[in-house]
Amino acid sequence: MKKILSIIIMCFVIFTFSSCTNESKNITRQTFALDTVINITTNEKDSEKINDAFALLRGYENVFSRTKPESKLYLLNNGQGKLNGDIEKVLSFSLEMSRLTNGAFDVTVAPLVDLWNIKERKTPPTAEEIETARSKTGYEDITLSPFSLGGKAIDMGAVAKGYIADKVAESFKEKDVENAVIDLGGNVVLIGEFNVGIRNPFNPNEVFATITVKDKSAVTSGAYQRYFEYEGKRYHHIIDPRTGYPSESGVASVTVISPSSMQADALSTAIFILGKDSISLCDNFTDTDALIIMENGEVITTENFDKKYELKK
Ligand code: AMP
Ligand code: MG
Repeated sequence: MKKILSIIIMCFVIFTFSSCTNESKNITRQTFALDTVINITTNEKDSEKINDAFALLRGYENVFSRTKPESKLYLLNNGQGKLNGDIEKVLSFSLEMSRLTNGAFDVTVAPLVDLWNIKERKTPPTAEEIETARSKTGYEDITLSPFSLGGKAIDMGAVAKGYIADKVAESFKEKDVENAVIDLGGNVVLIGEFNVGIRNPFNPNEVFATITVKDKSAVTSGAYQRYFEYEGKRYHHIIDPRTGYPSESGVASVTVISPSSMQADALSTAIFILGKDSISLCDNFTDTDALIIMENGEVITTENFDKKYELKK
């Protein structure tokens, strides 16, 4: 019998079990890691394996954190350490995305992310400060062999959670877990089939629509996830490197569904910045789809999205 679980995708995911079969219960455990709330759900019989997943996640904090002085990324940004392993894979994919989007997705966006410091700022930076930070970005200066950051600093906030979620899913599959929801702050990977609720970007406590997804990842980028408001205007955490300001593409949220969470993560950020016409970026990736909710309420999807994912509003 099919077991279906309903979840709501957003930065901080809420799980509600819609139905359970006569098999044993599902268990959800929560922790805070990678600067976000993590929820992992498995069948009760696999729940011990969640501890291993949490340990794996903590290990990745020492790879991808930009603020921990011992992390691999921190060391690289400070001219130390070697390019290899996870960082090399994610950097190489991020550079491909940077090229594919002509720099709208830019892995060297770090100076702008630091300047905007969305979590703590109450007022926007000055135009001059923005221009100074913007002049320090530019993925074109990075080379992989020989490796050089070309004086730039990298930020993997738009893609690392996806990569890590894929790794947790891989480790579960190696341990024969057949049903799991790995939710890294709205970056969700599903092992098995589940109903997924897409959060309403205009009222994040409500579900905008539900879809049914099997053995894939669903990732949402939205302006409602991290932001501050100043003089009636919202300043959010996704920066358009072409202007140096939070992007203003008219997109309220974009959800990408893909077999690869890393790809879904990067694409949701890129489409959010580039706007509705960039939904065609999905064509560059296998079996990858998107649903965009525009600020004016318009909904745009890739072809046959509603049939493929049983879209219900
Ligand atoms: P996401 O929530 O996955 O859409 O990613 C947003 C995060 O990615 C931000 O918090 C930054 O760390 C980083 N970021 C912001 N703007 C960009 C950009 N233009 N290109 C790449 N990464 C970005
Ligand atoms: Mg992303």
